[in-house]
Amino acid sequence: MLSAVETREPALPWRLRSDLQIQEADSSVVATWTIKDPLRLTYFYAAAEEMVFLNLLDGRTSLNGILNQLRQQFPESEFSAENLRQFLLSAVNGGLLRACVPGHSYRLNEIRKRQLSQATLRRMLSLLTHRFRGIDPTPILNVLDRTIGWIFQIRCMIAGVMFCTLAASMVVARHAQLESELPGISSLFTATNLPMLALSILFVKILHEFGHGLTCRHYGGECHELGLLVVGFMPLLYCDVSDSWLQQDRRKRMLVSAAGIGTELFLAAAFAMLWTVSRHGFLHTFFLNVMIVTSLNTVLVNGNPLLKYDGYYVVSDWLGIPNLAGESRAAAIAVFDRVVLGFSGTLLTRRSSGMHWAMATYGAASMVYRVLVMTTLLWFMYATLKAWHLESLTSVLVVSVAAGLVIAAVRGIRERTRVASSSPEQRRRAIIGLGVVGSLLLIALFVPFPYSVEAPFTLTPGVSSPIYAVEDGAIEPQVSAGKVILAGDLIAVLENAALESAVTQARGDFLVAKARAAALATQRSISSQVASALPAAEKAVLAREARLAKLLQKEQNLTVISPIGGTVFSSRNRPRPRTQLQEGLGWFGEPLNPEVRSVWITRQTLLCWVGTEKDLRAFCLLPQEDIEIINDGAAVTLTFASLPAAAVAGRVSQRKTIPETSVDRELIANRMVSVIPETNRPGETLFGVAVSLVPDSANSIPPLYSSGYAKIRCAPASLASRVWRFVCHTFTFQ
Ligand SMILES: [Zn+2]
Repeated sequence: MLSAVETREPALPWRLRSDLQIQEADSSVVATWTIKDPLRLTYFYAAAEEMVFLNLLDGRTSLNGILNQLRQQFPESEFSAENLRQFLLSAVNGGLLRACVPGHSYRLNEIRKRQLSQATLRRMLSLLTHRFRGIDPTPILNVLDRTIGWIFQIRCMIAGVMFCTLAASMVVARHAQLESELPGISSLFTATNLPMLALSILFVKILHEFGHGLTCRHYGGECHELGLLVVGFMPLLYCDVSDSWLQQDRRKRMLVSAAGIGTELFLAAAFAMLWTVSRHGFLHTFFLNVMIVTSLNTVLVNGNPLLKYDGYYVVSDWLGIPNLAGESRAAAIAVFDRVVLGFSGTLLTRRSSGMHWAMATYGAASMVYRVLVMTTLLWFMYATLKAWHLESLTSVLVVSVAAGLVIAAVRGIRERTRVASSSPEQRRRAIIGLGVVGSLLLIALFVPFPYSVEAPFTLTPGVSSPIYAVEDGAIEPQVSAGKVILAGDLIAVLENAALESAVTQARGDFLVAKARAAALATQRSISSQVASALPAAEKAVLAREARLAKLLQKEQNLTVISPIGGTVFSSRNRPRPRTQLQEGLGWFGEPLNPEVRSVWITRQTLLCWVGTEKDLRAFCLLPQEDIEIINDGAAVTLTFASLPAAAVAGRVSQRKTIPETSVDRELIANRMVSVIPETNRPGETLFGVAVSLVPDSANSIPPLYSSGYAKIRCAPASLASRVWRFVCHTFTFQ
């Protein structure tokens, strides 16, 4: 019987490679075999049935022949030829089999070509990560295991968990302090702080990897590689503990995977403690920094099972599904096939339907999350490089990653539709499904929705006249800020003794010259000598008169008078200088403040503004890409830093078309706008937008020159147009 079948059906021309190291793994969940490829140092898992199938491959038996033998050995399992064919394909792709019949090289070639193109794709996707082999850490790990191996005792682990809980509750108790200090964190990402940040991450990562290595060594595993992994531009250490895959005890394997997470959480707890007990300063910020980096990394990246890092391997081992990523992706694709394409053939029935749906959800979530992480990483790199004006460097990366994603999506869909295009009915159903999904996507992309941009602002006097000191002098203020005055009212009197004595001197000189000229005029008939001296004397009179008039004008300028009526607004508070002031020279505070009496004011100093009381303006600074989408009259919500709970309404009244050359001191001091160091020039091109406050809400307005963030409502825009606008502004290839 069997031989008759074999004559009609071709034999499977594959055989299991004899050099593979095959070992029975922990059997508490599913009977699983571990297959180690010593050449490529890769690992595979196989269920009992799959292992028997691989062993049955001898290059002579046909697929149906093997199927019959399997059914005899596992009467309770369901096998289909399609299932076996798929598993065979994955074993061939995985390099577990060798071809034993000549003439099959064309197939091998095809597979190799496919693998190669997949590898290219993977390389494009992983342009962000590079791996460099490093050192063998075994001697260090042996010493560590001898000295601190006791930490693996169960009571030490319980103490560690309690320590982390205690630290977490301490941070929660101080959440208000944490919130107030978090804005300072953004300053850690500035160019000057990046080396410090990189150092702290490196420090955390070294401990993380030694955590893995030590755990692996402690439980008898080998760890022969400690290398460097470059993610983005951030070098990270890695520790090759893949030997722990051969570890029999699933629990120990999970501990090796979880060691990195444990180390980072412990560091987060330790640095949280240090943060709570330290005072403000460099170290305090550093502690907070390490605490945030480690906990965010654990939650978002390393401990997150959606990415294939430590958290994933813990979950995968815990569930007993070695190929969790591949299986869940297959499950997600199967759901896509079934729901969108109406194709029902690809669903493998190895797991319960609840488990299948859970894995499909997990698979889809991890795909979306990976794209999100990649986008965030690119965005972060862009923002970092932008500070150094190197943002065009990111464009190469963005283009390659985006191209990789698009190619992967198109290839996937083409592959799925090829599977589905077996019958016309099937094809129709698939086209309808894709059409519905496509139109839903288009709606999501092109339906406009309102949104707003945020910009820092300072509160300034609106349409007001600036009043400057025209001459140098010691000030005697005559009004104070907030007073209502009339046109012609006195604002301040400046006293300048030198100028006054110069006036007196000039007046004396003029009188002397005038007297001399008059005397000469009466005597000119007596002597010709006198007559010839007269023109010079008259000239001197004119010159001295002009000088006197000029000085008198200056003297008059010492009295500062308001040209218009209105409310007096104070000018900016001048900061106290770092060096001690000399008596009577230099000043700080507001010039019209009565306490600033008799200090020396130099000419061109802004004394105050005079305008109408309700006419205040918030002056916002926006980058070019934002200013283009803001309309005059757009609604604005102003939130002052000093009054975060109360928002003030306003409207855009003016948009500047020339970039601002200086940034207000308040915005620099509060680190709301980055400037070129040691200057007040903005670090990027910024445009000013004046926002007039809506009158009836102007009751509870903080003092002038308060700062905050303005939320400016923009015209509704679709997701696609926003992305397009962003891309256009990011990649202006100039
Ligand atoms: Zn790790």
